[in-house]
Amino acid sequence: MDQRSFLKFISAITATPVVSPLLAWAAGDKLKNWAENIEYGTEKLYSATSNRQIQEFVRNHSKFKVLGTRHCFNKIADSSDYFLSLRSMDESISIDSQARTVTVASGVTYGKLAPYLHEKGFALHNLASLPHISVAGACSTATHGSGEKNGNLSTAVCALEFVSASGETISLSRQKDGETFFGSVVGLGALGVITKVTLDLQPTFLARQYVYENLPLRQMQDHFDAIEASAYSVSLFTDWQKQRINEVWLKSRIEPGQPSKPQPEFFGAKLATKNLHPIAELSAENCTEQMGAPGPWFERLPHFKMGFTPSAGKELQTEYFVPRKHAVEAILAVEHLRDQIGPLLMITEIRTIAADNLWMSPCRHQPSVAIHFTWKQDWPAVKALLPSIERELAPFNSRPHWGKLFTMPAAQLQSRYEKLSDFVQLAKNFDPQGKFRNDFLNANIFSS
Ligand SMILES: Cc1cc2nc3c(=O)[nH]c(=O)nc-3n(C[C@H](O)[C@H](O)[C@H](O)COP(=O)(O)OP(=O)(O)OC[C@H]3O[C@@H](n4cnc5c(N)ncnc54)[C@H](O)[C@@H]3O)c2cc1C
Repeated sequence: MDQRSFLKFISAITATPVVSPLLAWAAGDKLKNWAENIEYGTEKLYSATSNRQIQEFVRNHSKFKVLGTRHCFNKIADSSDYFLSLRSMDESISIDSQARTVTVASGVTYGKLAPYLHEKGFALHNLASLPHISVAGACSTATHGSGEKNGNLSTAVCALEFVSASGETISLSRQKDGETFFGSVVGLGALGVITKVTLDLQPTFLARQYVYENLPLRQMQDHFDAIEASAYSVSLFTDWQKQRINEVWLKSRIEPGQPSKPQPEFFGAKLATKNLHPIAELSAENCTEQMGAPGPWFERLPHFKMGFTPSAGKELQTEYFVPRKHAVEAILAVEHLRDQIGPLLMITEIRTIAADNLWMSPCRHQPSVAIHFTWKQDWPAVKALLPSIERELAPFNSRPHWGKLFTMPAAQLQSRYEKLSDFVQLAKNFDPQGKFRNDFLNANIFSS
């Protein structure tokens, strides 16, 4: 779906008063994901605008998927039956100042939520590289930002409401539901239709980012812990060539009394003299402000600005999580493949994420490092290369990102999730007939 069709789609779903098919607009256009590498298996897309309509839709359909903001690169969101979109349910944002939480309806994106929170004096603990994604979709796949003390975005979820396969509304909270809650947050879209998500808040804060260029790989190897501890959120961008990390992005909270003058050098890397895109040759116009300029958290923690096409556009993405304690070994193992990776790669990003206790989170019970690849859009070539990367990372029990491309066999993937069989049982409790399952979930989760 191109930009024009997508706008047509958005205006169509905002205008419809009842659960309605969005077929007319799609007549000549195929329904695709954001990167347009996946043509979805059906164009039968319906829009709901109220909880009653969602319940009605759930009761009347034996198989469908909820479509969020379509930012996954694999087929986790695909359906060959029906789609339900809640994108028009994006108005409800309710802050509980006393409890320091915010409850959002399912269609709300971080791009809509974050400025509102800031205006009311609040912040989230972290954001992904772009704000355009839905809160419900992002939390369902354990989407993350960076920062060794920051859990992924799903760790901010303190309560959740969804409609199960029977049409019943289920409310779960961290406080009262223990393991059932921890099993449900990263739900992969398999438990039900999420209607509300409640997130932890903190007082709003200002942040700034500095970028350094050309960090020698040797310095990364010798000082990884110090580098990662040097800011609230740290991203290392590399093309794996020339034994160097091309760019180091350091995002810091602005605390009173903190020195604001950056060091001209950072472990041998040089302070950038202008705003940079993670791929240095591209214009930094769509990137968040750098050079130490103070700004609200939501305009510094993501790399890409709201209101611009983020990242590089036509691309594919892959990402693997390994335990933080093996970070350097794992990075060097991937670096062995630099000659094969180079021709297909746009850029790699390396981030750290704190451990959590969410059953299907790749960071469950392990502080993690995530090694991400933005690829040129050549799936046959990328698909041929991924097994080599997966082999290099196998000694570290790597886990792929739920929303990105991987080739790891299902049995291997399943063996890396201690709580997998509990999750399968939990999903069966809420959805005994597999209403919310698709081929991706059947192959990777329910085939265990
Ligand atoms: C340019 C770009 C940058 C990215 N940057 C990052 C990053 O920095 N960090 C990172 O971790 N990831 C990143 N991602 C991946 C992205 O955050 C995830 O794939 C995320 O899941 C996208 O959310 P979505 O709403 O678009 O999901 P969709 O693809 O629409 O859906 C994902 C899953 O969530 C389910 N779902 C969505 N809404 C609901 C609901 N209301 N109820 C039940 N199930 C639901 C779907 O059924 C599906 O299973 C990036 C992706 C892109 C395209």
